[in-house]
Amino acid sequence: MTSFRDLPSIDALLRAGHDLVGRYGHARTVEALRQAVEAARQALLSGGSIPGVDALLAQAEARLAREAQPSLRPVINATGVIIHTNLGRAPLSAAALAAIQAVAAGYSTLEYDLEAGARGQRDTHIERILREVTGAPAGMVVNNNAAGVLLALSALAAGRQAIISRGQLIEIGGAFRIPDVMRQSGAQMVEVGTTNRTRLEDYANAITPETALIVRAHPSNFRVVGFTESVPLDALTTLAHARGLPVLDDLGSGALLDTGAFGLAHEPTVQESLSAGADLVLFSGDKLLGGPQAGVLVGRADLIERLRRHPLARAIRPDKLALAALAATLEHYRRGEALEQIPVWRMISLSPDAIRARAERWAAAVPGAIVPAESTVGGGSLPGETLPTWAFAPRVAQPNVAADRLRRADPPVIARVADDRLLLDPRTVLPEQDDALISALHTLTAGEG
Ligand SMILES: *Cc1c(COP(=O)(O)O)cnc(C)c1O
Repeated sequence: MTSFRDLPSIDALLRAGHDLVGRYGHARTVEALRQAVEAARQALLSGGSIPGVDALLAQAEARLAREAQPSLRPVINATGVIIHTNLGRAPLSAAALAAIQAVAAGYSTLEYDLEAGARGQRDTHIERILREVTGAPAGMVVNNNAAGVLLALSALAAGRQAIISRGQLIEIGGAFRIPDVMRQSGAQMVEVGTTNRTRLEDYANAITPETALIVRAHPSNFRVVGFTESVPLDALTTLAHARGLPVLDDLGSGALLDTGAFGLAHEPTVQESLSAGADLVLFSGDKLLGGPQAGVLVGRADLIERLRRHPLARAIRPDKLALAALAATLEHYRRGEALEQIPVWRMISLSPDAIRARAERWAAAVPGAIVPAESTVGGGSLPGETLPTWAFAPRVAQPNVAADRLRRADPPVIARVADDRLLLDPRTVLPEQDDALISALHTLTAGEG
């Protein structure tokens, strides 16, 4: 009769599998061997047989290999959500990747002025190109847009009042709420108007000698419809300037191109904000700009200078990798090649025919149907707006089980289940990922469907 005593000891397994110790370390290997033996014990209880040493080692090795994978790793985004915050927002252009590689591998001029042979400023690398593509007189970059909003409020309105419409007291997600950020900055928030209607006179009546700033936050991730009224930015800046006050415009997405050209609603652009007279315009680097995580601030030179000198600026400064990638991304706009070179804009501007051709390639490899579906921009931009697409729906019995299996592929594939169908949208799958995606799809038809 077989008993637990017939199972190999951990010591014996360690001797047989000493190469595992070399590769994964003693502690991890012992743990993996224990798990393998424990699994064998459970199997014995339910009538299984004693596994050999080799089988136990193979099990332990599979576990070790799985655990040695970094938990932050690439995935294939087949959801059709272009700026997917949980999947890392904007993929970078080839030029942005090359720029990161170039400064990451060695030393750089991050804060070094080659002509003077002395200390330089990290902002100089980005300010000129920011001025060129936005038309703003000055600009700076911080770690992300949330940090940019906190810095601007702290530097311009701490200990004084900042006026904002009740319709713009937004939450972006990840617990970033405008009223909380205001409080954190030390600015006193003065709310005007109502949730659905705010008029110019509401702002005018709220201005006091204590007012330092008027804030506009773009309600980027929701829509208020029906009986609504808000103040156009140019009317707001005319009022503010007549009273000697600056206007801060938190745009969120910060599109530099017109989303309206692709059948989407028009997302306000940075250039429009500036020409409507906003004194400071804030936006993210990794939303519709299509670059790395960053917060970009452009506008009046004297205000940017005040922000630069604020102690918070040092705490939220961008790293060299983000600066390199951001400069390379902005360069695409300057050269007029953003639609071809920046992945986010390439995905937005893809034609339905091109998407259908990709889906057909997948369908040639795996049984399934090509169905009309909708992609979204995501990233808290353009809520409710969709782009028509063609999705591939592999023939599977249980869509949720199949989606789960795709997530376990290497690289993992993230798909969508809608109307009891598994859907994969070619729009957000990078062309060079097609082969990996097809081999993941093969695992669906291999076993359970
Ligand atoms: C996304 C967003 C932010 C936060 O930007 P991060 O770059 O994610 O920090 C702030 N304000 C608005 C209006 C946004 O849409």
